[in-house]
Amino acid sequence: MGCAEKDVADAVRAAAGVVRRHRDELVNLDRPIGDADHGENLGRGFAAVVAALDAGVPSSPGGVLEVVAKTLISTVGGAAGPLYGTGFLRAARAVGAAEELDAATVAAALRAALDGVVARGGAQLGDKTVVDALAPAVAAAESAAGGGADVAGVLRAAADAAAEGAESTVPLVARKGRASYLGERSAGHLDPGARSASLLLRAFADHAAGSAG
Ligand code: ADP
Ligand code: MG
Repeated sequence: MGCAEKDVADAVRAAAGVVRRHRDELVNLDRPIGDADHGENLGRGFAAVVAALDAGVPSSPGGVLEVVAKTLISTVGGAAGPLYGTGFLRAARAVGAAEELDAATVAAALRAALDGVVARGGAQLGDKTVVDALAPAVAAAESAAGGGADVAGVLRAAADAAAEGAESTVPLVARKGRASYLGERSAGHLDPGARSASLLLRAFADHAAGSAG
């Protein structure tokens, strides 16, 4: 089964709930290697996204992703707003006017999101950023889609790989963003953006598993 605009909007609402419940955790991760606002930034952004969807759900999955992108860009300050905004915008473009998202389209949207984040922020794998969660997630999603997984399976593979990728940031020295100002002292901490990327993918995966079952 594919995902129509209502499913995508519901998945985004579920992700907003996860962001809200993990707000303090994300703030606390951003404290030692940043400025303790990541949970606040994303919380504000996703609350605005929910408000925008409450006002009206666009008529296509890509339209929903575009609303997410534009709302995040206009309401989230700091690094995360433009980065996630660009990611969702590229995902929206990859989906285009499709009426339903199938496994291959979801994998392509994730690839486009990663490319957008890299184009915007210039981070590579190992720089201790969201890319360390997203890059393995995209590889896993593509391999799952290639192996015949459905949308829920693709997102589960992505979420599992993102969780592992996020954990891999702990020993890393940050080379991008605010944490990079700390140099070697940034090692020993989980990157807040990698954690939030992993949380978002898990929320989408859980939602897809629920609606498929
Ligand atoms: P800010 O650093 O402006 O306070 P946030 O706290 O909301 O913004 O987000 C911090 C997160 O953004 C970091 O944990 C990191 O994952 C991510 N990040 C920062 N700079 C970049 C970049 N250039 N490329 C990719 N991700 C980045
Ligand atoms: Mg911050």
